[in-house]
Amino acid sequence: MNYKTNIASRKEALTKLLNVIITHENEIIEALYSDFRKPAFEAVLTETNYVISELKDTIKNLSKWAKPKRVFPSILNFPSTDYIYKEPYGKVLIIAPWNYPFQLALCPLISAVAAGNQVVLKPSELTPKTSEIITKIIGKTFPVNHVEVIEGGLEVSQNLLSQRWDYIFFTGSVPVGKIVAKAAAENLTPVTLELGGKNPCIIDNTANLKLAAKRILWGKFINAGQTCIAPDYILIQKDMKSHFVDFLKLEITKAYGENPKSSPDYARIVNTKNWLRLANMIDDKKVIFGGQTDIEDRYISPTLIDESSVDTLIMKDEIFGPLLPILSYENDAEINIVISKYEKPLSLYVFTEDKKFAQKIIKQYSFGGGCINDTVVHFSNKRLPFGGVGHSGIGAYHGRLSFDTFSHKKAIVKKANWLDLPMRYAPYKDKLKSIQKLLKWL
Ligand code: NAD
Repeated sequence: MNYKTNIASRKEALTKLLNVIITHENEIIEALYSDFRKPAFEAVLTETNYVISELKDTIKNLSKWAKPKRVFPSILNFPSTDYIYKEPYGKVLIIAPWNYPFQLALCPLISAVAAGNQVVLKPSELTPKTSEIITKIIGKTFPVNHVEVIEGGLEVSQNLLSQRWDYIFFTGSVPVGKIVAKAAAENLTPVTLELGGKNPCIIDNTANLKLAAKRILWGKFINAGQTCIAPDYILIQKDMKSHFVDFLKLEITKAYGENPKSSPDYARIVNTKNWLRLANMIDDKKVIFGGQTDIEDRYISPTLIDESSVDTLIMKDEIFGPLLPILSYENDAEINIVISKYEKPLSLYVFTEDKKFAQKIIKQYSFGGGCINDTVVHFSNKRLPFGGVGHSGIGAYHGRLSFDTFSHKKAIVKKANWLDLPMRYAPYKDKLKSIQKLLKWL
C-alpha cells in the first residue's frame, strides 16, 4: 500500500525536516569533514545551505506546483476545460553518490516527498559518517513506511535495484548508470540518471585571463576536483597558454597558500582506491604545477598538467579529482577534434569576450548545461534545469522541475454537457468534406 499524503501533510513533514536539519547542521558539517575533510565553508555553501534553501523554496511553492494546471483546450473538443493533474508515481528509489553526499541525497528526496511519493534512499557507502547522520535525520522526521534510508554498498544497491519501483532517481557514474537503466527496464520503471562526463573548458584569445584563472580554479578545486560539473580539461588558444598558466599558478597560491596540504580550505580524496586511480594519472614529466601526493592523508595537491595529446590516461575518462590537463588549439577545427572525441559532457564552459564565439560554441556542442565566463555556477539557479544529455544523463531537476520529475502528469479533458456537436459521430456520410474544410481552417 502506498503511503498517502496531502499537500498539508507534505508541507508539515518538510517543515519538520527543515527544523531537524537546522538543529543538526553542525553535525552534518562535522560528518562531511570527517568523511573527506570537506571544508566547513564548502559544506555550508554546497550542502547544508543548499538543502535548506531547496526545502524553504519547496514548502513555499508546493501548493502552487501541485495545483492542477489549466491549459488552453483544443477547439476540436469544444466545449471543454483541460487540465494537467500531478500525481505521485508511488514508490521511489533514490541512489546517491559520495561527492556531495548530503545535498545529492536530500534534494531529490525533498522533491519526491513534495510530490507525494514514498521514498527509499540509499546514500553512498564511501561517506559513512554523512550516511549515518542522514539516517538519523530521516529517522527523526518520517515514519519508515513514508521515507526510509537503507545504508550499504554494492550488494544493498543491487538488491534494491532488483525490486520493483515506480521511479528510480540515480546520481553517480556512467557505468553504474547503465546498470540502473537495465534494472529499471525490467519493469519499465521511469528513471532520472544524473551522471558525469569529460567537461571541456574553452578559452579563446579575447578572454580575460586573470578572471578566467580565478573562476576556473574555484570550479576545479572546490571539493578537491570531485565535482561532476568541474571543468575536466582546458582547451586554450595556443598563444595564450603560458600567460594563462602563470595566472593559474598565482591564483592557486592565493587560494590555498604555498602548501595547499596545510590549507583548511582544501578537501581530501574520498578513499585510497580513488587516490590510486588519480595518482596513476600523474605523469611527472608533464606536471607544470603541484603534483604533490600523500597516500596516508589521501592528499593530492592542485595540479596543472601540460597535455598535448588526447590519447593519454588522463584524457581517457572523467578525471574527478584535482588534476587539470591544459591542452591548446590553433583553430576551431582543433577544438572540434578534441570535443568530438568524447560523449556529450555534463557541462561545458567557454571563456571569451567575443559574443559570436561564445554563441558558436554553445550552439555547436550538445552538453547538459554550462556557463559563459564562469564555471559550475549554473548549478545554483533553481530556475535552470540541471541534468545531462546522452551519456551524461537522462532527465533534469532543481526547483519546480524537481517536483515535476517526481510527478506523473495526467491529462484530463472536462467536457461540458450543454452542447454535443454531432460532427464526429458515425454514420459519417457526407461529413468528410466538412471535416476536411474545418481541419484545414484550424
Ligand atoms: P558510483 O556510480 O560509483 O556510485 C553511486 C551510487 O551507486 C552509490 O550509492 C553506490 O553504492 C551505488 N553503486 C555503485 N556500484 C553499483 C553497482 N554496480 N550496482 C548498483 N549500485 C552501485 O558513483 P560515485 O563514485 O559515488 O560518484 C561519482 C560519479 O558520479 C562521477 O562520475 C560523477 O560525475 C557522478 N556524479 C554526477 C552528478 C550529477 O548530478 N550529474 C553528481 C555527482 C556525481
